Amino acid sequence: MRIKFWGVRGSIPVPLTNNQLQRKISAVVQQIKAEDLRSPETRELFLSRLPDYIFTTVGGNTTCIQVTLADDTMIIFDAGSGIRELGASLARQNRHIRHYHIFFTHFHWDHIQGLPFFAPQVYNSECSITFYSPLQNLREILSYQMKPPYFPITMDLFSAKINYVVLPPEGISFGKAKLTYRGVNHPGGCFSYKVSENGRNFIFSTDTELREGDFIKNNDTCNFYNNTSMLVLDTQYTLDEAIDKYDWGHTSFSLGVDFAAEWRVEKLALFHHEPLYEDRKIYDILDKARWYAENLYNYSPQLLVAREGLELEV
Ligand SMILES: [Zn+2]
Ligand SMILES: [Zn+2]
Repeated sequence: MRIKFWGVRGSIPVPLTNNQLQRKISAVVQQIKAEDLRSPETRELFLSRLPDYIFTTVGGNTTCIQVTLADDTMIIFDAGSGIRELGASLARQNRHIRHYHIFFTHFHWDHIQGLPFFAPQVYNSECSITFYSPLQNLREILSYQMKPPYFPITMDLFSAKINYVVLPPEGISFGKAKLTYRGVNHPGGCFSYKVSENGRNFIFSTDTELREGDFIKNNDTCNFYNNTSMLVLDTQYTLDEAIDKYDWGHTSFSLGVDFAAEWRVEKLALFHHEPLYEDRKIYDILDKARWYAENLYNYSPQLLVAREGLELEV
């Protein structure tokens, strides 16, 4: 399966500010030397050697991840502001996908706010969209918040065919792929999802404050976390912040590394980035996470920063 990140920011969308952009440009200008400007090739080489925190941005959109299965079925996790660009991108590519499967981890604003902007898909009568959640009142939860005075239109104005599926405890299948879920610790509750296909296991675990029970090996946790090929994990905080913000529902990057090491996770993507953090700080956290993993454990997962537009084969 392939995954693509469309929104990776926690809590609220945060566009790049003028100051941040100017600091990136300034950093480039300060690093360039006369020989880097000699030819188009040297200029390209110079750009390719710039660190990610200067040449890219992790992005400011809130949670949305696309998973494409081997048979091209498209699964979307959460409809944060990132889903707007996913919809626009499909339209630009002229990709006529008829059926979309959108799973919700929970219904905090940063995970649903992009839904009315998933266009043109939600306003296209040739599309059908199925919403999934383990919660019985999925339909009411979604429609309640999308109406005046909170938003000018209601979900009745979606012209796509809309279905609601309350997930059974055993999860569901898409062809040869299996999708299961597990409740995690977060204010108001949240679900992590696992997609298993061709022996590979992808776990999406946003908005979770890991607790002792997540490390204890029993049937429930072993069934879910054993043989994880890739884990996208809420690592919004530093350790200091996680102590200050105990019970706010998010995990520190260091505890995320502990967790990934405990479960022998192959690849860990740091996710649900703190809105206050600039690119430089997020990549500093990645460096610290790598140091921590390499120095404290015999086993260390491959570590990466989730950023908008990043595509990976799981
Ligand atoms: Zn969130
Ligand atoms: Zn939340």
